[in-house]
Amino acid sequence: MTPKTKSPIWHPFTQHALQDKMTKILRGDGAYLYTADGVRIIDAISSWWVVTHGHCHPRIVSAIQDQAARLNQIIFAGYTHDPAEEVATQLLQLTPAGLDHVFFSDSGSTSVEVALKMALGYWHNIGKHRTRIVVMQHSYHGDTIGAMSVGARGVFNAAYGPLLFNVSTIPFPATGHEQVTLDALESTCRNERPAAFIVEPLILGAGGMLMYPAWVLREMKRICETSGVLFIADEVMTGWGRTGTLFACEQANVTPDIACYSKGLTGGALPLAVTLCRADIFDAHYSKDRTRTFFHSSSYTANPIACAAAKANLDLWRDQSTLRRVGLIATLQEQALEPFRTDARFANVRRTGTITALDLKTTDSGYLASIGPKLGAIFKDRSLLLRPLGNTIYVMPPYCVTAADLAEIYGAISDAADVG
Ligand code: PLP
Repeated sequence: MTPKTKSPIWHPFTQHALQDKMTKILRGDGAYLYTADGVRIIDAISSWWVVTHGHCHPRIVSAIQDQAARLNQIIFAGYTHDPAEEVATQLLQLTPAGLDHVFFSDSGSTSVEVALKMALGYWHNIGKHRTRIVVMQHSYHGDTIGAMSVGARGVFNAAYGPLLFNVSTIPFPATGHEQVTLDALESTCRNERPAAFIVEPLILGAGGMLMYPAWVLREMKRICETSGVLFIADEVMTGWGRTGTLFACEQANVTPDIACYSKGLTGGALPLAVTLCRADIFDAHYSKDRTRTFFHSSSYTANPIACAAAKANLDLWRDQSTLRRVGLIATLQEQALEPFRTDARFANVRRTGTITALDLKTTDSGYLASIGPKLGAIFKDRSLLLRPLGNTIYVMPPYCVTAADLAEIYGAISDAADVG
């Protein structure tokens, strides 16, 4: 083992005291990353779920280059630019009908902060005192204070408890217990008159790739609608084809009141996020009274280069072949997963769209399960970028991955199970 040194760079979600030498990547191409030592790594998790069409997609790279030479930054209050306007127009065409306004920010977490502020701003501006947020057990919505507050409490945020606000939590809709979740949502909405319910549609990502069916999502939306509670869909991970449709909400025929998109918005090339909302949420802030302004910004809001990358990504999605490719990856994933469905070493073998997940049967489970780092090391030795969530192994590849790549990935998963 290489001796541990104290890195001058403090990396995210990294325990430096246990970290081997960082792998230095020189370039990316499609589903592959190339290290400084010339090793080719298959990116089986799309570099933290962001890369959709593959690393350095030529159309996205070219859009970035063109825009960088033209206009690379402009304050977005009082000023606008073509890439942002084109992205907003196309987003409103592609997202569920009924979302009417687009607010830009720069990460999934900030898109969630914006969503929460929009919800509370709405109730405040129409003169109703509704501030409580309802969340789902095991959720993850990001690492800023508001996003952590609406996420599951646990090891990720134990130290920051005093900074977090209280929420009401409904149980995850485990198979066979969906009605418990729906009943809990209904009674919380009735008794607490909350401002909003925030949820990851169809798949809870960092909470362990937990999947639930579209009819539950539809019912949750119906309950919120009936009780006048704003429904916030956090599609930061589930958007951009991951669940088999462009957005997960489509499968439930649901239009959220507020929706968050990021990660694959630029195809995974640059940081950018958007929060979309219904007209009446915008209208509650629309007034000659300046105190009703939506007070949120960041310096790089709607950065033109990031927007140009997003525009190139949206153009790719307008091409039907992109969704066909998503369908093919879903099929390939199912075929690769098939033998694991009867493999006694694994439990909860599951797939939604292009994402698969399976739990290795171990003595301990959860994010800090001791098997996690061991599995990570095995996958690294096999030149695979896989990052298990404790004993949960998942595969979320870019859509240019091949059947041969998947065979390599699942072969390594099978071998790793014996070591574990
Ligand atoms: N929401 C969901 C559902 C996520 O999965 C993530 C990140 O994984 C976030 C929000 C936070 O996004 P970011 O890491 O870009 O801040």
